[in-house]
Amino acid sequence: MLKSRRVKLERFFVTHNLDAILFSNMANVRYLSGFSGSEGALLLTPDRGWLLCDSRYTTQAAVEAQDLEIREFSVKLDALTELINEQKLFRVGFEAAHTSVSAFMSFSGNLEGRELVALGADLDQIRSCKDAAEIILLKEVAALASASLEAVLPMLKPGIRESDLARELEFEMRRRGADGRAFDFIVASGERGAMPHGRASERRILAGELVTIDFGAVKNGYHSDETVTVAAGVPESRAAEIHKIVREAHDLAIAAVKPGVSSRFLDSIAREHIGVHGYGEYFGHGLGHGVGLEIHEKPTVSPRTDVELQEGMVFTVEPGIYIPGFGGVRIEDTVVVTSSGCEALTMADKSLLVLQ
Ligand code: ZN
Ligand code: ZN
Repeated sequence: MLKSRRVKLERFFVTHNLDAILFSNMANVRYLSGFSGSEGALLLTPDRGWLLCDSRYTTQAAVEAQDLEIREFSVKLDALTELINEQKLFRVGFEAAHTSVSAFMSFSGNLEGRELVALGADLDQIRSCKDAAEIILLKEVAALASASLEAVLPMLKPGIRESDLARELEFEMRRRGADGRAFDFIVASGERGAMPHGRASERRILAGELVTIDFGAVKNGYHSDETVTVAAGVPESRAAEIHKIVREAHDLAIAAVKPGVSSRFLDSIAREHIGVHGYGEYFGHGLGHGVGLEIHEKPTVSPRTDVELQEGMVFTVEPGIYIPGFGGVRIEDTVVVTSSGCEALTMADKSLLVLQ
């Protein structure tokens, strides 16, 4: 499995004429080595690999990354410099998108006679298409999170605080085996629904208000991401109308997902549907993002990026309408592209549930 993942690096070795590639983004390190620690580095040549970690992780690294040589460091850059010099590696690629300017400067200052080659964000695309093992983990965490929401939704009644709901949801996820929450949950009720990223506040939810709940769990390193918008009692007709439009945009986009389709075109399907109903100016963000070892990863589904969808890609479809002074609706599912369409990993009911 790890070997088939490392094969994806071949084109970077060839295109940039590299002796080795250095990884410090821990999601990429985990993907390519199996090591799940929070700190370390991975140096790969086409046929050898070294995992560098500090003393907290030496034992764990030896268990998780059995086909790599483990090197313990006290100062990471010093250990890397020593290894690169010792192995006579001349051209070493690195993740420019995940390296600070100061780290780069002190590293390149130490590496006389060697060349550091900046690799762009396209390096992260190696994780875009998930393999079978990843899809199993993504399905498991998504199902866990969806079931947790279903279990706590009956608590959502007028008078409850947004933060109480968020806490109960996180507790339920942990009770069901999650390692934690994937991000700070968004619970945005009433006018706060106009903030696409309105984190749960102490506000009490009022009767008839819409409540947007954006939530996810993390387990075994993999994340889930899902949003429902429900009503705390019968909503006013404009709120129900907006919900209907967003739901249609979400359904239309999901129905269009299949290999070969452009991500920009997918975004445009939802965006045009919202636009023809007169709400185009209230949908400011992109349609979706990849989900995996990171909560936001490749591919990006937006008007500004164009990626051809491929089987195994996992990303969100999350159109929304946000009206300042009124409120908002977002509906989000995470889907995996199959050979002929897609399958939703997230499972919560996306209709306008009226809870009272
Ligand atoms: Zn989300
Ligand atoms: Zn999302």
